[in-house]
Amino acid sequence: MGGKDTTGESVYESTNPARPGEVVARVGLADAAAFAAACRTAKEAQREWAKVPAPVRGRVIASIGRLVEANAESLARLVTREIGKPYAEALGEVREIVDTCDFFLGEGRRLYGQTVPSEMPDKNLFTFRNPVGVAAVITAGNFPVAVPSWYLVPALLCGNAVVWKPAEYAAASAEAMYRLFAASGLPDGVLNVVFADGAQTFAGLELALEEGSVHKVGFTGSSEVGRKVGELAGRHLQSACLELGGKNPMVIMPDADLDLAVEGALFSGFGTAGQRCTSLGTVIVHESVHDEFVERFARAAAAARIGDPEQDVLAGPLLDQKFADRYEEYLTWIQPHHEVVSGSTGRITEDNPRGDFDGDGGLYYHPVIVDGVRPGDRLFLEETFGPIVGVTTFSTLDEAVELANRPGYGLSSSIYTTNPKHAFRFREGISAGMVSVNNSTSGAEAHLPFGGNGKSGNGSRQSGMWVLDQFTRWQAMNWDFSGRLQKAQMDVAEIVPDLEFRI
Ligand code: NAD
Repeated sequence: MGGKDTTGESVYESTNPARPGEVVARVGLADAAAFAAACRTAKEAQREWAKVPAPVRGRVIASIGRLVEANAESLARLVTREIGKPYAEALGEVREIVDTCDFFLGEGRRLYGQTVPSEMPDKNLFTFRNPVGVAAVITAGNFPVAVPSWYLVPALLCGNAVVWKPAEYAAASAEAMYRLFAASGLPDGVLNVVFADGAQTFAGLELALEEGSVHKVGFTGSSEVGRKVGELAGRHLQSACLELGGKNPMVIMPDADLDLAVEGALFSGFGTAGQRCTSLGTVIVHESVHDEFVERFARAAAAARIGDPEQDVLAGPLLDQKFADRYEEYLTWIQPHHEVVSGSTGRITEDNPRGDFDGDGGLYYHPVIVDGVRPGDRLFLEETFGPIVGVTTFSTLDEAVELANRPGYGLSSSIYTTNPKHAFRFREGISAGMVSVNNSTSGAEAHLPFGGNGKSGNGSRQSGMWVLDQFTRWQAMNWDFSGRLQKAQMDVAEIVPDLEFRI
């Protein structure tokens, strides 16, 4: 789609995880050559798009925001149907696109450069932000429209063309989003969508990088694939924007408001069935409040509603069969020294129901709380995308920070405390790009930097003014109107001080 239709070789069926027999979209998957062709199309279209004044591009972004707002409910319903995200959260996800557009439509009238004083007279210095060219953007499907908008909106505003490769299991949501963007009047070829599997995407990206038709790679997905994409970009002397997995810790101090902490742990552990990059990985709770917290947390998890994502539920099904299979493997990481304090585990079925809910044939799973997790356990060290949360204890804040950093991710983190000193010590010590105080590990805002360190990313940041550095390159210009060759560092006036002076 976009500049040219990429007719696929093989067909992929995206299904409804609440009713796996129901096909939501059927798309043809492109091969590597088609991916590279889309990048060439984008490269051609980008030249003209970059010439459109930034404030006018900002008006296009404004139109996208208005179009998404007017179609919010239908887009959210589609997201719910395709990936099983509860409707209220899906609507919030769509809202995030509107917020992102609202921020960047104004950036069209800012996109500031600077005037800088020169060290020589009759000389002016300036900086300009130039678009990078073509951005190839590859995204995961757990936030099938909000996370892509974090790339697409600023990339387009800055004068770039985009080739977007969404997750296969979120194809219908991606297609709908593409159509909304296209309705804003974006010229042909400026935004292109390619459906492809991972292997063909990688090969296509390699081809396009070799041909010089991709100038920025954006990747949101697992740390494992992110490493490969980052290596590939690095070989072509490019720094990719990598937004990867998380093992997000929540520290609970003895002075915490435990009711608030339980509410936060429930939402960040099991909301979206634990399938956010910012989902809670491990609760690190002070030994003096451990028993009380675990008891209350288990009670809250048992009372939470899991079921049809079109209803008012905490969580619906897992995103897709691929995630259900992977999640079942994570459950095998539960060891004899662990204690599952949440009751049943595994898929919710007639034989393994959750109260009177038998799973309706959907990919629904019991939420699992595992107490007694130790720092050497796989459950402690690795991302477990799905509804499973570990619990461990600490005695001093330093120890809690060390435990929170141990897995080597660094996306999000949280501390519950009523003591500001604890909050600031934690902020200083934690390696995460995001820190919540008395709030869950999830909850980004469109104008706050979002991104991770370590296994969660290479330090790139999305959202707000910070993402502009991903999609523009600074250009420095100097203009000498003295009429002679003035040499920097050499032809500079000197004012001689008396450095021996003492009072
Ligand atoms: P994934 O890495 O398997 O896939 C992500 C995207 O990359 C998909 O579009 C996929 O088709 C594509 N892909 C797969 N293999 C590829 C390859 N070799 N070369 C190029 N592209 C390839 O991730 P997933 O399992 O779909 O998504 C879940 C992961 O994404 C979790 O780890 C989650 O934490 C992470 N995530 C991170 C963020 C963030 O902003 N940090 C946001 C959402 C999800």
